Amino acid sequence: MEKPKKKIAAPRKPGRTRRRRTVYTPEEIHEIFRRFSVQRPEPKGELEHVNAFTLLVAVVLSAQATDAGVNKATRDLFKVADTPEKMLALGEEQVGEYIRTIGLWRNKAKNVIALSEALIRDHGSQVPDNREALVTLPGVGRKTANVVLNMSFGQPTMAVDTHILRIGNRIGLAPGKTPEQIEDTLVKIIPAEFMRHAHHWLILHGRYVCKARKPDCVACVIADICKSAEKTNEIPAPLVELAPQA
Ligand code: SF4
Repeated sequence: MEKPKKKIAAPRKPGRTRRRRTVYTPEEIHEIFRRFSVQRPEPKGELEHVNAFTLLVAVVLSAQATDAGVNKATRDLFKVADTPEKMLALGEEQVGEYIRTIGLWRNKAKNVIALSEALIRDHGSQVPDNREALVTLPGVGRKTANVVLNMSFGQPTMAVDTHILRIGNRIGLAPGKTPEQIEDTLVKIIPAEFMRHAHHWLILHGRYVCKARKPDCVACVIADICKSAEKTNEIPAPLVELAPQA
């Protein structure tokens, strides 16, 4: 009888190593988010808005701009235009006047008007609650769609901004080169019970503690768990509920 042939493993393609998803165990990840949840039980985004439409507009305006800068401009804009109809009636030039202090304002004013038109024409003036429809709107990309789905519709999405991109890599929670890679990892590793607020917790942690230029490890509640090479402290800060950011 012929001897069964030995299976020869296919050679690994050069340069194709498996990306490690995270350097933390599921228990450590659970503990990180448990602590964030104690610090900020009901985290809020910092972009001011009064409804799903104004949130969508604010997020579109916030590309390459600070939340504080966007809020300054939209406070007056949203007083006169908090629906697609009112925004359209205002017109591109007038919208431009309100948002002149925000970077790329000309293009953004154009998008806000086109966005309002599309909502009226295709969605009965409502902001759609699904990603496929949202990303077809002018000026709306995956990140903007994720923010709106999370904040207005309570969906467990992960909008990866500059803070989350930095934290994901710096502490090895979700290493990746692109926002999509990091988003993909985070939605897989974060326990479901924490997904609703995880996006805000990470942004606020990045903005106020694990800051870009120098992480404030003494003020960090996960200092004992963190595996970052940049870490300067091992003792976690006291775990207490923080006052909401002004
Ligand atoms: S210990 Fe330092 S590096 Fe690690 S998460 Fe906290 S602030 Fe960031």
